[in-house]
Order: sequence, then C-alpha cells, then structure tokens
Amino acid sequence: MAETITHDVVIVGAGLAGSWAAMTASQQGVKDIGVLSKIHPLRSHSGAAQGGIAAAINNTRPVAGTGPRGPLEMIPEGDELIDSWELHMFDTIKGSDWLGDHDAIELMVKEAPDIIYEYEHLGCVFSRLPDGRIAQRRFGGHSVPRANYSADYTGHVLLHTVHEQALRHGTKFYSEWYCMDLIIEDNICRGVVAMDILTGEIHTIRAKAVMFGTGGYGRAFKITSNAFANTGDGVAIAYNAGVPLMDMECVQFHPTGLYRHGILMSEACRGEGGYLTNANGDRFMENYAPDKMELAPRDLVSRSEQKEIDEGRGVGSDGQGIYLDMRHLGREKILERLPQVRELALEFVGADMIDTPVPIQPTAHYSMGGIPVNVDGQVLASADGTPVTGFFAAGECACVSVHGANRLGTNSLLGASLFGKRAGVKMAEMVLGGAKLMPISGDPAGKNEERIKALMNREGKENVEDIAQELKTTMTDNCGIFRNDEKLKQALEDIDELQGRFKNASIMDKTNRFNTDVLAAIETDHLLTFSEVIAASAKERKESRGAHSRTDHPKRDDENWIKHILATKDKSTEEPNLSFKDVNIDWERFPPQERKY
Ligand SMILES: Cc1cc2nc3c(=O)[nH]c(=O)nc-3n(C[C@H](O)[C@H](O)[C@H](O)COP(=O)(O)OP(=O)(O)OC[C@H]3O[C@@H](n4cnc5c(N)ncnc54)[C@H](O)[C@@H]3O)c2cc1C
Repeated sequence: MAETITHDVVIVGAGLAGSWAAMTASQQGVKDIGVLSKIHPLRSHSGAAQGGIAAAINNTRPVAGTGPRGPLEMIPEGDELIDSWELHMFDTIKGSDWLGDHDAIELMVKEAPDIIYEYEHLGCVFSRLPDGRIAQRRFGGHSVPRANYSADYTGHVLLHTVHEQALRHGTKFYSEWYCMDLIIEDNICRGVVAMDILTGEIHTIRAKAVMFGTGGYGRAFKITSNAFANTGDGVAIAYNAGVPLMDMECVQFHPTGLYRHGILMSEACRGEGGYLTNANGDRFMENYAPDKMELAPRDLVSRSEQKEIDEGRGVGSDGQGIYLDMRHLGREKILERLPQVRELALEFVGADMIDTPVPIQPTAHYSMGGIPVNVDGQVLASADGTPVTGFFAAGECACVSVHGANRLGTNSLLGASLFGKRAGVKMAEMVLGGAKLMPISGDPAGKNEERIKALMNREGKENVEDIAQELKTTMTDNCGIFRNDEKLKQALEDIDELQGRFKNASIMDKTNRFNTDVLAAIETDHLLTFSEVIAASAKERKESRGAHSRTDHPKRDDENWIKHILATKDKSTEEPNLSFKDVNIDWERFPPQERKY
C-alpha cells in the first residue's frame, strides 16, 4: 500500500491561485506546504494568459480629442488622474450584469494596485512606458486603459515570478500528481487522495488545510481556448464530496478564438485597435455597441458575432467565422505588442495578421461559476455562509463572486492572484493558530484504488473519447452562447444518456505507469458531472444576464433573478438540488441599470 503523506497545507493546483497561496502561506511562517499539479506547474493555464492584469494605477490615458479608440499617452507626473478604484468597481459590476457581489468586488479593486506593485517588486518583467512605469492598454468593458501587461505573455511572466518565489520558500511541488478525491467528514476537510501519475500509486494526503486552485473547465465545449488540462476536476471532486457549486450557468465565450481551433487571440488584439468584420467587410459592432464597438464586453461581442454568423454573414468554408483585422496597426506595433498571437495565427490557420485578416470565432473561455467561497477563500458548505472547516478554493475553480454573470478581461489574473494570496493568509492563520491533523476513517486511498481497478476490469463496448466528444457537441449546441428551454432539456437528456454509457466504457491500457487512458476516463467522468450542473442551472435561470443568454427569456429580470444559484448533489438521486443565495448589492451606490455600451 502506498505511503500516507502529511503536510500542514496541501494545495491542489500550481497556477496563479495555487502559487500565490503557497508563497503567501510560507511568507507567513508555515513551513510544511505541498502543492500538487497534474501537469508540470509552469504548464498551468495561467501561463497561457496573454492580455493583461487589471489595476487602476493611472499610467496611461487616451490622447485628448482622439476618441475612444485613439492612441494612448503617458499621464505626466502631477496631471489629473483618470482612473480610480471606484471606476474599476463600477465597470466590474456593470460587466457582471449585477450578479457579482459588491463587497467582494470592492475589496478586489481596492487591493489591485498593491498586487501589481508586489509583482513588480518580485521582479516581474512588465512592458514599460518610456519613463519606466508599467505600460497599460485598453480592454473590453473597462472605461479607461487599465490592463497592465507584458507584451502578450502576461500570464507567463506572472506565473514564473510567483512560482520561483514559492520554490525559494521551500514549497514541495508534486509535479504530475493527480488529485482524485477530497476527504471531508463532519464538515471538516482532512485531506485529499492523489495518484502519482508516474508510478500509478495512490496516496492519501492528510493536511490541516486543503486548497483547490484547479482552474477552469472550458474543455466541456467543442471549441475552447482552454488547455487540455482544464477539465474541471476540482469542481467535480468538490461537488461529489457534497460541496455546492454556484453560478455554474455563467460560462464566458470569448469573441476571438482562432477559427476551428478555439486557440485564443487575446482581447489585447482589439485593445490595441483591431477590427471585427463580417463577410461583407462591415465593422458590424456599429450595430450592436456603437460607443464601445469592438471593445464592448465579451458576452455582447460574442453574441453579436454569433448573430452575424447565424444570419449568413460569417466567413470561412462553413460560414462559422468572422474576421479579426489588424492590418492597419502596422508591422512594428504587431511585432512589439502581439508577437505570440501573430505566431499562433500563422502556425494554426496560416494567416499573417500583418497583411491578412485572421478568421476567428467565439470560443468557450472562462468559467464564472465554481466552488462558492468567501473573500478569505473559505469554501461555503451552504447558502447561509457556513464554511467547510479547513477547505479553501481560489482562482477560476472558485466563485467569490467577483465576476458575476460576465467577467471583464484582465480581472481574472487579478482575482486568482489576490484571492490565492488571501487564502494563503487564512490557511497560515489556521495552521499557526494550532489546527490539528484530523483523523480519517476508512481507507480513502484503497477506495480509489478499487475505483481504478473497476475501471480497468470493465469489458463494456463504449469508448471514453466518443463519450467526451458527444458531450462537447451537446454542450456547444444546446448550452452554448444562445440557450432556451428546449435546448437545455436536450442537453440534460444527452448528458444523462452519456453518464449511463460511461458506466459501460472500458479502457485499453491496463498498466500502472503513466496511464493516460485512466486519467482521460476520470477527467471525462468529471466533465459529465459538472456539465449536468451547468445545464441544470442554465435551465433554472429563466432570464438573460451577462453570458447567460436565453432566447425564450431575452430580458434581464431584476425582480426575480438578482440571486445566485447553488447546486448540491442529491445523495440518493445523484441529481443536482438547486437553492438560492442573495447577491450582495450596494443599492445606494451601484443600483442596477441598463447595460449599454
Ligand atoms: C488562453 C487564455 C488567455 C487568458 N488571458 C487572460 C488575461 O490576459 N487576463 C486575465 O485576467 N485572464 C486571462 N485568462 C484567464 C486566466 O488565465 C485564468 O482564469 C487564471 O489564470 C486561472 O488561474 P488558476 O490558478 O485558477 O488556474 P490554472 O492556472 O488553470 O491552474 C490550474 C492548476 O490546477 C492543477 N490541477 C487541475 N486539476 C488537477 C488535479 N485533478 N490534480 C492535480 N492538479 C490539478 C493544474 O495542474 C494547474 O496547476 C486567460 C485564459 C486563457 C485560457
């Protein structure tokens, strides 16, 4: 039997949320921290982030008289400032379509500048203005240039900066370890179960505090910008362990994924001035967001693109594309500011954006919903706010909720960093305050060994990959950008059928070492688990808000729907039970208003 491992703190996920939590907890004095990552830590999806990280630090402004799309210039020392945390807060609330919690948003935007300066002091290589201050660009839904960036490699430089600090403080990284279970008894989290992928050994890992920073789950859709690893393991594992999931119907589709691939062409493309055009060569955003044009928030731009496509004005062999036209920016600017996206377009669709429009299409990108947490990262056991003792979550797998029904670009790197940090502080407080390793009943590792043995011994004819593909097809067709009751019913029926078929799926590889067949099966199981929650929550929310757009309920319904949906797995039927939680709204300062751009 594989050895039981113990740590004071165990963090699952080595992206920005996990790395910040590890760095911070060790800075606070916790000596014994383990971080698990199913892929090499530096391959975490945070490293793929391109465009920027938001904070109102007032370094650039539009040149006077050039309009909302004109060039930017430095704000000279002593000149009037154009940005503030209040404006960042308003933009985020409006972007969230009044489903984000105002107290959490206020905390995030107020602490944002300190996060940027902390990165700077840790040596992060930001792009710079001529006078040495951090460069800022425009991003969708933000009233002013507020995206701090490093060319189009922002996530890469941020992740490397925090990862090396976590290493420096002695964090133990378990690279290519797969967490497959969470141990919660009597509402106290006691550890996790994980597989060392190299050997196939299953270990129980006990800890005084456990944090999930397991990232997003765009892989439930056919076209996605998300890495292969983004299969929502954390949300599915937590849900199976009895923890609720919140706002799962809110899935963001990014307007510019490479045509047929989904790979992201950063919003920085439009932030720097790119146009979107249809088959007639029209800049169609004029008809949907005359003021902000291409820099309207993502939900609105994606819906506009989809409308153009559905009405026959798409491009590409199947008419499912739109053009991203960057030619007017010129070679020099493209090579300086967007070298990575240019290469991606060249490599994957053979279009050099310097002299050719790039075909793109909406792509599943970000999961606003997830494991409900408070601002200290403590996971909530129910709508009344009772925490699960010793269980924390941060980053994309968590729902604070600061992004509500639609996240603004660049707010996610900020949220993952800040709430990862805050969870690190709280876990340290718990451990240094004398928390104990709690006893575990039964044999969790053994139980999971049995689960894998059963999977290997199955003789059924079903194929795991076929099931995953069929799931992605129904999620895209029936639970995608535009939804309605009939489609969502279909999605739920399909998922139910696929869950049944999964029980008869067998795998070919029966060995222990680096068995990716087993992992793909468990990941598909997770996709099936949380996709059901997405579809059930989407069916329940009978209105359109942010990224959740129902053709049968096209209006936002503030009277009935300023509330979060929580889904808990029913112990007997295994179906999601839905309940509701109030949104924290500051009715005085930020009352709901119509969302126009
Ligand atoms: C292409 C792309 C570009 C983006 N650009 C921006 C941007 O410019 N600005 C912005 O604000 N946001 C951006 N985002 C969103 C942002 O990058 C993510 O939301 C954020 O980085 C998530 O960080 P995280 O720490 O929560 O998760 P991740 O960085 O995804 O890390 C997840 C970690 O969990 C681990 N893990 C998962 N499951 C398991 C398991 N079962 N066992 C063990 N380990 C596990 C993984 O190995 C990984 O280490 C972008 C996203 C994408 C996909």
